[in-house]
Amino acid sequence: AKIVTDVVCPFCGTLCDDLEVALSDDGKEILEVYNACAIGATKFLHSQASDRLTRPQKKQEDGSWKEVTYDEAADYTAKMLVDAKKPLMYGWSSTSCSAQGVGAEIGEEVGACMDNTATVCHGSTLIAVQDVGVPSATLGEIANRADRVVFWGCNPAHAHPRHMSRYSIFPRGFFTGKGSKSRQMIVVDPRNTDTAKMADVHLQLEQGHDYELLSAIRVAIRGEKLPDVVAGISKEQIYEVADTLKSGRFAVIFFGMGVTHSLGKNHNIDIAISVTRDLNDYTKAAIVPMRGHYNVTGSGQVWGWQFGFPFCLDLTRGFARYNPGDSSSNDLLVRDELDAVFVLGSDPGAHFPVRSVKKIAQLPSVCIDPHITPTSAVSKMHVPVAFVGVEVGGCAYRMDNVPIETKKVVEPPEGMLTDEEFLQLVLNRVRELKGAA
Ligand code: SF4
Repeated sequence: AKIVTDVVCPFCGTLCDDLEVALSDDGKEILEVYNACAIGATKFLHSQASDRLTRPQKKQEDGSWKEVTYDEAADYTAKMLVDAKKPLMYGWSSTSCSAQGVGAEIGEEVGACMDNTATVCHGSTLIAVQDVGVPSATLGEIANRADRVVFWGCNPAHAHPRHMSRYSIFPRGFFTGKGSKSRQMIVVDPRNTDTAKMADVHLQLEQGHDYELLSAIRVAIRGEKLPDVVAGISKEQIYEVADTLKSGRFAVIFFGMGVTHSLGKNHNIDIAISVTRDLNDYTKAAIVPMRGHYNVTGSGQVWGWQFGFPFCLDLTRGFARYNPGDSSSNDLLVRDELDAVFVLGSDPGAHFPVRSVKKIAQLPSVCIDPHITPTSAVSKMHVPVAFVGVEVGGCAYRMDNVPIETKKVVEPPEGMLTDEEFLQLVLNRVRELKGAA
């Protein structure tokens, strides 16, 4: 077998870049994936599925699917977007930055609302960072330096399985030579998760009281008085955690959905950032969101430099407006303001509230995804594309905002397009249609 080294895993925001993939002698088939976690390896192996869709499918009146060409699919998609008054172009997290760039050009041409998966994920983080800034660090710095590691409202043991072994807890770095023994691990979570079970300290707070506990930690850091119990945690434990964090050489707070989507939302992140800022009076401290999809961070970056805003974009007036809570996908769907839905590289059918999914099912819709998903099932057109990071390379941003070039490992099935190539077809067709109008 042939071994391809330094392969980047295109699954989660950890973007592990040390994978090795064994190929058949002719280089066409993936035989084995080494170093990846189970979910990462499965992604590579799924690309080899014998029942994989390799051509676009259009839903017929009777609900059956009919194969069409990529040109026909691009024509349908372009017409749908040009005819719509207010189309939503959603997703953009499981694809490369260059595809995201072409998507943004289409959105600008047709005057779309554009949103990415941050809208149901770390959108509140992006808002908080705009409000108060963020003291950050790269995962490399953390691996080499962090001796106090907090996981707040996240469960990397399941969601980012190699995060702890590669970057945050176990690696033996330059200043962390004893690996996990060099570090104090604190988990804050109302649930006794598999991550919590590994912690030196588990603060099992009352659900939805993150803001109070973060605020109490700020008080404790400053040595001020606390009530006996905050968020279900005794003041003794809060003072102890504050001391542990202050006494380290480098503290890092990783946080996830438990903070961004519990009561308080962006205000929780504001105060978590404030805790980090306060800690910098005593030691070095950073805070990093546990971003989910492998390039959700990149979609915020690309739109940030193209439009000035990272998600919830409304381009319907020909310039970018940004108003999360108003121009966010679910608000637009529930208020029934959209007349077409385009989804790429994500699965709102599985993750949006059922009211929103029902709306997608009623509207003209296109889903671009290598897999059959709940979203493709409710869409009128499904366009399968090559897997980014497996069958085509492309840039992706890791959760700490470091851009990493993913690798092409094998050829896609004969005649299949990448999502960037398909988007380029759509963009050309949109321009033709608009030129003719
Ligand atoms: Fe892939 Fe994430 Fe697993 Fe790393 S931790 S191998 S990036 S799924």
